[in-house]
Amino acid sequence: MLPGIHALLELSRVDMEIAALEEEKATLPGAREALAVNRSEAAAGVEAAEAALGEAEQEQRRHESVMADREALVAKLEGQQHQVKTNEAYTALLHEIEQAREGISEAETAILEAMEGIEVARAALERAKALLAEADASIAADGAKIDDREKSLDQSLGNLRREREGHASGVDAATMATYERTVARRRPAVALVKGEMCMACRVGLPPQAILEMRKGERVITCGSCRRILIFEAPSEAS
Ligand SMILES: [Zn+2]
Repeated sequence: MLPGIHALLELSRVDMEIAALEEEKATLPGAREALAVNRSEAAAGVEAAEAALGEAEQEQRRHESVMADREALVAKLEGQQHQVKTNEAYTALLHEIEQAREGISEAETAILEAMEGIEVARAALERAKALLAEADASIAADGAKIDDREKSLDQSLGNLRREREGHASGVDAATMATYERTVARRRPAVALVKGEMCMACRVGLPPQAILEMRKGERVITCGSCRRILIFEAPSEAS
C-alpha cells in the first residue's frame, strides 16, 4: 500500500470540518446585514409615522385657522347690521352671515376628523417606535451572538488548520498534489474501498485497480467518482 496514504483519511476528515465551519462563517456577514437592514427599515418607519403625524396636526391647524377667519367674518358682518340702509342690503348681509356660519360648522367637522387622524397617527408612531426599540435590542443581543460565534469559529478553524498541517506532513508530495487537485473538485476527496467496491459511489472496482492499490506505487482514483481510493483496513492491502 502507498505509504502515508492513511493520513489522507484524517486530512480529508479535517478538510470536511474546515469546509463546514467556513460555510457557517460565510453566513455571518449576511446575518449582520439583515440586522442592520431591519434596523434601518424600523428607523424609516418611525420617520414616516412622524411625518404622517405632522401632516395630521397641520391639517387640524389649517381648519382651525379657517374657522377663526369665519368667526371674525361673522363678528364683522354682525357689526355692520346696524349700518345697512336698505332691505336688500340687509337680506344680502344676513345671507353672507349665514354662509360664514356654515363655513364655521364645516370647519368644526373637519377639525374633529383631523383630531381622529392625529390619534391614529400617534398610535402608528408608538408602534413604529416599539419596532425600532426591538430592532435596536436585536442588534445588541443578536449582534453580540454573531460576534461570539465568529470568534469561536475562527478559533476552531485555527486549530483545524494546525491539525491539517500535521496530517499533511505525513503525506508525500505527489500524493498530496493529487489530493489537493481532487479536493478542489469534490469533497470528500477520498473514498474507502471495501469488498473491492468504492464506498463513495458504490461502484465495483476492476481487479487491476485493486492490484495497483496493493502495489502501492501510486495513487489510484475511482474510475467513476474520481476520488482517491484507500483500503478501509490496512490488512486488505496485503
Ligand atoms: Zn467512486
